[in-house]
Amino acid sequence: MPSVGYGQAKRYKFQKMLMGSPFQLVLYSSSDSVAQEAARKAFVRIEQLNERLSDYRDGSEINRLSATAGKKEWMAVSDDLFRILEISRKISRQTQGAFDVTVGPVVQLWRRALRRNHFPEPQELENVRKAVNYKYIRLRKRNRQVMLTKPSMRLDVGGIGKGFAADEALKIIKQEGISSALIDAGGDLTLADPPPGKTGWTVEITSGNGRDSTAILLLANVGVATSGATYRYLEHEGKRYSHIVNPKTGVGLRFHVRTTVVAPNGTLADALATACSVAGIQKSKKMLRRFPEAKVWLLEIRDGKQEEWKSIP
Ligand code: AMP
Ligand code: MG
Repeated sequence: MPSVGYGQAKRYKFQKMLMGSPFQLVLYSSSDSVAQEAARKAFVRIEQLNERLSDYRDGSEINRLSATAGKKEWMAVSDDLFRILEISRKISRQTQGAFDVTVGPVVQLWRRALRRNHFPEPQELENVRKAVNYKYIRLRKRNRQVMLTKPSMRLDVGGIGKGFAADEALKIIKQEGISSALIDAGGDLTLADPPPGKTGWTVEITSGNGRDSTAILLLANVGVATSGATYRYLEHEGKRYSHIVNPKTGVGLRFHVRTTVVAPNGTLADALATACSVAGIQKSKKMLRRFPEAKVWLLEIRDGKQEEWKSIP
């Protein structure tokens, strides 16, 4: 054990596979036991959120809620599920529906298409699209109840859940008395205070344009999320389609965008990275006026031509 003076913080690193992603925690603490306990509780919290919010898990709270769609029933839900739906609906409004957690039926259709390597039929797309719209989510704040007003609706918080979980885990870490912390959820970062004596965490961002353009930033108390490029795609007639879908058309994005967002927290960064990928550069410019505190780096390829827009310094 290295000898350290009283109050001198050491760097700790913990990792665990959660929500299908490697979650890595970097903490600074002067005590082994405090760091270990904080990490343990943070992982437990992420696991708890996953149990509630994963649409991959049979019987998860979110899937039980989706099962009530169109039945004219209110369902009382956990604070976690209620809050993530409340935030998601707000971001949907602010992004004119580019971000929409009711994309579940469309995402399911694409997942199936991917497994069978068969492009969805236009009629199938048309059918599922009818159940997609954030306006079909009704929320009653007073008793935390939710009603899904259209049959066949299905919620999918895959575009915001990792950021939300990281924010919640950071809260736990802070409650344990640690203020300098970083969470890396499969490349999406959520940062608390910088390491002791530093002005920020050194974060390297690449545009993903193949020319290795990078920005090195010193950041703290923000979320950094990237969306777009992925190894999960469907190829059809020589075109690739992403797992991110345009809620209006029901079609997976063509492989032409990649977005990195720096925002005041992980939840917003995650959701906006997905939303900007759907919106593309032109619409994102307008959309982001509503989020003056968010910075983005967007890469778009259209007709073989590459365009970039960057408000990240
Ligand atoms: P991300 O990697 O954060 O961009 O999230 C992608 C995931 O979000 C997908 O795998 C879907 O589960 C979900 N998703 C896809 N399209 C959208 C959309 N337009 N709005 C919200 N969530 C989406
Ligand atoms: Mg996202």
